[in-house]
Amino acid sequence: MDIPREIHRIEIPTPFEVGTMNSYLIEGDPVILIDTGPKMDEALAALRKGLLRAGYTLEDIDRVILTHGHVDHTGLAGTIARENEHKGDSSTVVSIHEADSNRVLNYETFTKDRVQSYIRIIEMAGVGADERPMMPVGYLESYFLRFGESVPDVFLLEEGTTIKTSIGTLRTMWVPGHSSGSCCFVCDDSKLVFSGDHILATISSNPSLDYDISEQISMVKYIRSLKRMESLSGYTALPGHRDPVSDLSSRVAELQSEYSSKLDQMKGVLSSQPRTLYWLSRKQFGDYDVNSMVLALAETFDLLRILESKGEAIIEENAGIVEAIASN
Ligand SMILES: [Zn+2]
Repeated sequence: MDIPREIHRIEIPTPFEVGTMNSYLIEGDPVILIDTGPKMDEALAALRKGLLRAGYTLEDIDRVILTHGHVDHTGLAGTIARENEHKGDSSTVVSIHEADSNRVLNYETFTKDRVQSYIRIIEMAGVGADERPMMPVGYLESYFLRFGESVPDVFLLEEGTTIKTSIGTLRTMWVPGHSSGSCCFVCDDSKLVFSGDHILATISSNPSLDYDISEQISMVKYIRSLKRMESLSGYTALPGHRDPVSDLSSRVAELQSEYSSKLDQMKGVLSSQPRTLYWLSRKQFGDYDVNSMVLALAETFDLLRILESKGEAIIEENAGIVEAIASN
């Protein structure tokens, strides 16, 4: 696979289970950075080092383009913008899709709301008091708050927004699912797509974690956005974590079949006996770790809602606890 020499992948540490994330520097005029890494000293040091290896510093960055609003991708955007403030009008522009813009414009409020939504899903799933994660709300808030900060202003991207670069024009493809404002940036000249966390080589995109952002089921949005990638046959994906995906079409097909098996499995777990969201998540995902509880519950809930929309499950709420049965 031929990746133009203007593109430099910079691996940046994160405090999260996923491990490192990828920032991409595109040399030329303008100098572009796609995703930044979280706001922590080790990440900033890795970014500076990666830029330097290519002959650049933070002050050389003209545009920061964010694939989506998760803090492991956005946390250093504020730092980079501040480093370039003195340039005045031409200071670094931070670009993100509108549907994720709140995550970087109001990081603190957004993060506190997220923590509340994590607690809410554990409560409504019917998790026993002795099995709940023991972390107090204040601890969780301050844990997440330290890895990001609000940026004062952003440029809003939308479907079709074009960005001129030295490797050709990038066109924005809005692919909601992994987050509401997830975008891929497609370079048709180089047959490349910066895929953020929409397409990853070996790990799941976990779309269900965005479960409370809208009434729409985020897994349904994700599967729809996955279908759009079929138009990029022969392209190489440069993802937000780990190695490039050289055979994009096969990876898309593989993900499509994974989601369809997950749905079949969930259907097999349901019976005429009402079971709580938590019980069903244990049947679906087995003996998962307490740290994966929110993700397992959110994904179970999405699968149930999809089955409900197909007339294959009935979801009921009893005394604030979500339960489901097979519909026939
Ligand atoms: Zn993400």
